[in-house]
Amino acid sequence: MKDSNFLKEMNARSMWHPMTHPADSHANPPAIITGAAGVRITDIDGHETVDAVGGLWNVNLGFSCQPIKDAIAAQLDVLPYYSTFRGTTNDQVIQLAEELRTFFEPDGLTRAFFTSGGSDSVETALRLARQYHKIRGEAGRTKFLSLKKGYHGTHMGGASVNGNANFRTQYEPLLPGCFHIPAPYTYRNPFKESDPERLAQLCLQALEDEIAFQGAGTIAAFIMEPILGAGGVIPPHASFMPGVREICSRNGILLIADEVITAFGRTGSWSGSRHWGVQPDFMCTAKAITNGYFPFGAVMIAEGVAEVFENDTTGKAAIGHGYTYSGHPVGAAAALACLEETKRLNVPDNAAARGTQLHQGLLELQKKYSLIGDVRGGRGLMCALELVSDQASKTPIDKKTIGALQEATYQAGAMVRVSGPNIILSPPLVLTESDANVILTALDAGFAAVA
Ligand code: PMP
Repeated sequence: MKDSNFLKEMNARSMWHPMTHPADSHANPPAIITGAAGVRITDIDGHETVDAVGGLWNVNLGFSCQPIKDAIAAQLDVLPYYSTFRGTTNDQVIQLAEELRTFFEPDGLTRAFFTSGGSDSVETALRLARQYHKIRGEAGRTKFLSLKKGYHGTHMGGASVNGNANFRTQYEPLLPGCFHIPAPYTYRNPFKESDPERLAQLCLQALEDEIAFQGAGTIAAFIMEPILGAGGVIPPHASFMPGVREICSRNGILLIADEVITAFGRTGSWSGSRHWGVQPDFMCTAKAITNGYFPFGAVMIAEGVAEVFENDTTGKAAIGHGYTYSGHPVGAAAALACLEETKRLNVPDNAAARGTQLHQGLLELQKKYSLIGDVRGGRGLMCALELVSDQASKTPIDKKTIGALQEATYQAGAMVRVSGPNIILSPPLVLTESDANVILTALDAGFAAVA
């Protein structure tokens, strides 16, 4: 293997990284990850850390999941690729669709449409939502509503419903007809409301107001993450998602649950929607569906929505959408093995227990370090620290300090993710109690280094 500095130079001159300024690869080269086992990753210098990012919220079962690796290898030998476009399919994807149908039956979701990842899943749900209304003769329902601070991937539709300016401004104009309401984010909100339940009610009222303002008959769907992830891990009050469901149903608006992060156990429930007792009309999944070992996703579709498509006799329900890799046999084999392992290991229970442990530990750190403005989590293995340079004014921390904190934490034994002023933790769901303590100790050292 080439030496680390040489590789970093090549990296900087020949590739651009997602979500990174191209010049950063020179100024601040990325760690070159060369290996991984269990919940740990190793870089080219031989430095080993607990991966508190879990790949990118996707490696729920860790890096050593042998049944998935075996399934991928075996499938490559038998059928490495064939399409599921009109006229052909494969046995792996048929089995997977059946498994997912059983898995998501409690969520009321009984059909699957396969994709190559999260952004594809979001795009699929947005498109099918518009088509649903057209089939039913409500062609005027074309608009989308979503939450500020929501993250829905990077395609033009997804970016249009995204609620974070960083992912929008340089790419405008985006899709017309997309409108955002305030998120139930207690630390900062336009209502200056810090009580989660009252804030949920205010946000629901904002949704009602926006629907009245736009006209219910112009809106196709509302899309939300059951717990906002990339926006900084924002768990709403328990009344929020059921409230959204009720408002959507009353107004003929479809509810799209973007569960690219939350499906398959991360919240401590099998899905984020189930966590809140809600049945969505569409559910977007990806990431943990293959434990990150193969790019793959699925949009799950509610029985009632599926019937509208399937009972159409006009031709309007023909699906003019799909990807070369929709239903990829190797991805489907990976997903089948992953689902079996996910169920066998009963990951939600551990996610809940370790999530509580991490959240408590982070609250202890907050007592020690005034840089920690807000601690969020306690709903499975997704936590965030929102950092401020001043507690009273809640001034967001500068990029340099949070970068130094991340580096010091990495040197002390844990890879954590920085997203704006937030440190985000989304480790594998198979994390042990002692692994969680390694993350907390490394963060403690990281804060001590920059405090
Ligand atoms: N939706 C949500 C909620 C996500 O968190 C993400 C990715 N972090 C996406 C969509 C996009 O997924 P992908 O990066 O696989 O396209």
